[in-house]
Amino acid sequence: MYKKKAMPKRSVKAAVIGAGMSGLVAARELRREGHQVVVFEKGSEVGGTWVYDPRVESDPLGLDPAREVVHSSMYKSLRVNLPRPIMGFSDYPFEAKLSVGVDPRPFPGHEEVLRFLQGFAEDSGVVELVRFEHEVVRVERVVEERNDEWVVEWQTRDGEVRAEVFEAVVVCNGKYTEPRLAEFPGRSTWGGEQIHSHNYRVPEPYKDKIVVIIGNGPSAVDIAKDILHVAKEVHLASRETTKFKIHDGLYQHSPIDYAEDNGKIVFRDGSSMRADAIIHCSGYKYHFPFLKTNGIVNVDDNRVEPLYKQVFPPALAPWLSFIAIPYRTIAILLSELQSRWVAKILSGKILLPSKEEMTSSVQEYYQRIEAVGWPRRHTHRLQLEKFDYENWLAGELGLPPLERWRQNMYFTSLNLLMMFGANLRDTWDVEKWMQGEGGEEEEEEE
Ligand code: FAD
Repeated sequence: MYKKKAMPKRSVKAAVIGAGMSGLVAARELRREGHQVVVFEKGSEVGGTWVYDPRVESDPLGLDPAREVVHSSMYKSLRVNLPRPIMGFSDYPFEAKLSVGVDPRPFPGHEEVLRFLQGFAEDSGVVELVRFEHEVVRVERVVEERNDEWVVEWQTRDGEVRAEVFEAVVVCNGKYTEPRLAEFPGRSTWGGEQIHSHNYRVPEPYKDKIVVIIGNGPSAVDIAKDILHVAKEVHLASRETTKFKIHDGLYQHSPIDYAEDNGKIVFRDGSSMRADAIIHCSGYKYHFPFLKTNGIVNVDDNRVEPLYKQVFPPALAPWLSFIAIPYRTIAILLSELQSRWVAKILSGKILLPSKEEMTSSVQEYYQRIEAVGWPRRHTHRLQLEKFDYENWLAGELGLPPLERWRQNMYFTSLNLLMMFGANLRDTWDVEKWMQGEGGEEEEEEE
């Protein structure tokens, strides 16, 4: 057990960067704890990822640093991958309100999540704290000797640049905007079209085409399903396997070994084919272009380091914090628990260990990642612990551990999502499952 240092109870002036799901709940929790909060949002509405934007970036692979960035990676047909019971806040459920224009399905379309977040922002009053069309361009300590004085500089749509000083900064800028590409010889000169899933919106451009999708996560599977009914063939390049047919028009391959200028793709199992397009569903990079910490916080091979319990850089805690860095969990639950924890640490109701103790905790965590053979880029994947992390946060907050049924529902959802065939989002009777043995089922592997 750590010996914790006392900190006087206090109310701080805090800047929250981003008005997506995380920024909204962070603002609410900070205000509940009596802090003074300003939320900076570069867009013109709340909702972040859930604000569907039909535009695609000028560089579909996202390599050009001068491109105009579109924040959201939503595609038009997207339906949520977790059912309603685990997509709400603890005290603000994601219920199907029966009125005109509402999508009442257990796995609704993305528009419904946006409506839910807008409702949350209005009903909690957080919307009044948001400064829209304020893009944060610099976050830096005023002087290096003080960790509780941060200058936040922003740019408005009309180009005006201004700044204000805050005691605390809570970073909630999202993690699904900056593409991470699959690497293979010949990628830059390959003859066909290439995009990253960040720029995928609709299936029509793939009509009658042979498409290779790189990746084996939810986006790869979902986009494959989306284009299957228009494309000539869809080939998933992801698993160490020899080629096999999943079903009509859909094939599984090993990863790409190399690609040739003439459109030929050679897979690691030695098979090859010609394709028209490659969609990189290879994930995203953490990106904080505004953050200047003089080397204290770095992103190295997609590890944001060092972060105590995935939230606080020990040398700058509690004044700089990050919400929603981890993935492979129930996103909304994570953001809410982390936000409450940050708010209560800032007010002094919960105490952090010493800087040295936080640093050794971070090192121990990295050693665990290495011990299981994971690369650094998987540091924030919450798969080792199966909700231990969320339960640890709940414990810090004096809350009971996550109900078993929520955990089971999460793992069941992911298993169903990764399957091809019938649309299980329509055939899984979530209500019945909850009334039945849902809470008793054994956890299934992701
Ligand atoms: P975001 O929603 O990305 O919000 C970040 C906000 O910060 C944005 O509004 C952005 O404009 C703003 N911002 C960024 N930089 C700046 C800056 N410099 N200055 C000011 N503002 C800034 N989760 C689920 O639970 N269920 C799902 O079914 C699901 N499906 C998904 C499908 C896709 C394709 C993607 C990409 C994600 C999905 N997620 C899903 C995860 C989703 O990211 C989370 O649900 C949640 O929206 C994350 O919220 P956030 O606030 O952390 O980030």
